[in-house]
Amino acid sequence: MALNAKASNYDYTIHDANGVVGVKDDVKYPISKEDWDRENPHIEHKDSVCTECTYVPDQTTLFTYFVTREDKENATVKPKLCGKFTMPGWVGHSHFYVFRCRECRVVGVDYVHGYTNYGLYYLRCTHCKTPLPLDPQKERSMYEAEGGPVPPASRGERKRELNNVVKEATKGKDVKVFSSGLGLVEGGKFTRFRNFLREYFNY
Ligand SMILES: [Zn+2]
Ligand SMILES: [Zn+2]
Repeated sequence: MALNAKASNYDYTIHDANGVVGVKDDVKYPISKEDWDRENPHIEHKDSVCTECTYVPDQTTLFTYFVTREDKENATVKPKLCGKFTMPGWVGHSHFYVFRCRECRVVGVDYVHGYTNYGLYYLRCTHCKTPLPLDPQKERSMYEAEGGPVPPASRGERKRELNNVVKEATKGKDVKVFSSGLGLVEGGKFTRFRNFLREYFNY
């Protein structure tokens, strides 16, 4: 029997990291996230039977009541997982991390956002709102947890990838590439190349 993704077709639904499973008469039917969202735009994740996350009304409540005092006191610029949470209006849940902002030094929590202009995931400081790109090598587990592509880790690979992007963009066209206002990129030669790499890849 084929059922569509509407929640009302099932006795109940299970939501976890692998997606959504509808259960009808003890038979499980996997549902893709796209089908689920299309058929049930009005159903918030907090109303589902999710075995993995906790509902919080907002980020301040999460920080105040669900991050241990020890984690707040010991927070560094390296993000530490504090669990999976969902909020009003969300159709899924996210991993949340506690971290110290490397700009304003205030400790906060956030979930992983995608992407910066350079294909990196980032956390946003709840205090100063600065986006904090995540180093793909140091925070590989965070990339994997989100299921997104992990950017190349080694220095050589990144350089090669960047060179290819510039080559493609400028091939046969009157196009010049600037790296984030730091300088002109020409023929694979980068003016202030090192600054660019340091800023975006902790080179
Ligand atoms: Zn959940
Ligand atoms: Zn900050």
